[in-house]
Amino acid sequence: MTKKADPHADAHVDTWLVHGGRDPWAQHGFVNTPVYRGSTILYPDLATIESQKQTYTYGRKGSPSMAGLEEALCHLEAGARTMLQPSGLAAVTTAILSVAAAGEHMLVADTVYRPARHFCDGVLKRMGVEVTYFDPGLAEADLASMLRPNTRVIYVESPGSQTFEVMDIPAVARVARAANCWLLADNTWASPLYCQPLTLGADISIQAATKYVVGHADAMLGAVTANARAADRLRDTQFAMGTCAGSEEIYLGTRGLRTMGVRLAHHHQSALAMAEWLQQRPEIARVMHPALPGFPTHHLWKRDFKGASGLFGVLLKPVPRDALAAMLDGLTLFGMGYSWGGFESLIVPFEPKAYRTATPWTEPGYGLRLHIGLEDLDDLKRDLAAGFDRLNAVTRS
Ligand SMILES: *Cc1c(COP(=O)(O)O)cnc(C)c1O
Repeated sequence: MTKKADPHADAHVDTWLVHGGRDPWAQHGFVNTPVYRGSTILYPDLATIESQKQTYTYGRKGSPSMAGLEEALCHLEAGARTMLQPSGLAAVTTAILSVAAAGEHMLVADTVYRPARHFCDGVLKRMGVEVTYFDPGLAEADLASMLRPNTRVIYVESPGSQTFEVMDIPAVARVARAANCWLLADNTWASPLYCQPLTLGADISIQAATKYVVGHADAMLGAVTANARAADRLRDTQFAMGTCAGSEEIYLGTRGLRTMGVRLAHHHQSALAMAEWLQQRPEIARVMHPALPGFPTHHLWKRDFKGASGLFGVLLKPVPRDALAAMLDGLTLFGMGYSWGGFESLIVPFEPKAYRTATPWTEPGYGLRLHIGLEDLDDLKRDLAAGFDRLNAVTRS
């Protein structure tokens, strides 16, 4: 769906989240666009089917439900075209396949979402695209020196998965532009409310809408937004691949969008307060949160982001596995599980050592990734404090 003139185009983003991408008077006055289920869409006559000049032509290619959310996300990302995907990972792979070709070379930040690496190292390699990983903190000139004559794509994620290094996207964009490369950015952490990679110079922004857009841990959804340069590539690739998001999931994504502003503001506030509290805990070696003034790439976050979401990491001082198990297994509010961006708090252990390849990860100690949900902050602190008590009891015994 391409962006079209919208009566709320100049509205504040909070107003836009409420009113954008819906048209009650096209739905008999119902506030929400219903779930349009369907494969077949009828044409009124021979002339119309010959010309294909009808807004909706086939279920896979579009519906009013799909168009509404695509239009809304496109506006928020300041793009030219958004296409919904059945998952965030499908958004990653569709974005890459829209621009990469056999015989080319691609530069990928060492901190991207791990399943994206899996795609690059497997399917993409098999299709003849060579990938090199680079440290997300690389200086502009050093990144430029990694370019090869056939480098055509640079793929980044900021802040990085698990360890939250903020990248200098405008600097990477300068490198990409000078070398005639496409720049792709996974924008899931910030969501388009807190960062707009396209305005920072990227060509394509990727959103795992499963996280904050859906916002309730009840659906899988993705979105790719392209600037004018990449828009046709994206549309052609999407239609050729045949992927499409389910209508029920699109409805849930659209509903999530309406409250995303207030949810994110709450996540920002609670997660930052929790990060500050954890910084004071003796069990913690380091807190990895872009909005903390002491965090190494904080200045980039401050320059390019409007806020922080609910996800950040900590490194524990080294403890035996038993102690970590005692801490995690007894938590009552924090759940252990993948994904994030829903209303609830989550915690998962991770080890960057296991998969970083550009720069070896040398810090000892377990990493923990926390998602701070919408629960009361003091209740959450009590849950973690009791966890630290259990951890210390094992360490001391
Ligand atoms: C979760 C996630 C994805 C993948 O999204 P799914 O909907 O789980 O496929 C992609 N990128 C980032 C940064 C993510 O956190």
